[in-house]
Amino acid sequence: MPPKILISACLLGRPVRYDGKGKPLHDPILERWKSEDCLVGYCPEQAGGLPTPRPPAEIEGGMNGDDVLAGRARVLEVTGGDVTAEFISGGKRAVAFAEEQGCRFALLIDGSPSCGSGFIYDGSFSGTRHPGFGVTAALMRRAGIEVFSPRQIEDLVTSLAENAGKSGS
Ligand code: SF4
Repeated sequence: MPPKILISACLLGRPVRYDGKGKPLHDPILERWKSEDCLVGYCPEQAGGLPTPRPPAEIEGGMNGDDVLAGRARVLEVTGGDVTAEFISGGKRAVAFAEEQGCRFALLIDGSPSCGSGFIYDGSFSGTRHPGFGVTAALMRRAGIEVFSPRQIEDLVTSLAENAGKSGS
């Protein structure tokens, strides 16, 4: 049986994003994993108690998920609301869920202050990206879960194959 992969629920097309929409990833590899029933969808922001739709949020000051976990930065909505606690709570729930499901790998959408793993936005709500990662991505890495973005899907395939080789499955 292929290993389970935790995936951002919006990548499966579920309408969980701040704007009430999904962002489905159309990729033949993903379609194969769906048919093999090895994808487990999860939305950390909803799990943290945030409503949908909700105001967009970014990590302040060009910082990243580790800075939020260390108390050096907050996650702020464009309206000024502080949603740091919800983001941390949702990220912790996502890690607990991944562990319950036996997921050692995660495919998370990039750009999100929760799920982003390669880039996020800088907190100015001006569309400015910077290399960095979100709160859930930081928590997953700390828990030993390997995080990949959609543009790294081939790398994820390689890691799954290497993992299967190590486990002899
Ligand atoms: Fe998608 Fe993650 Fe944002 Fe939920 S928290 S909407 S799964 S990017």
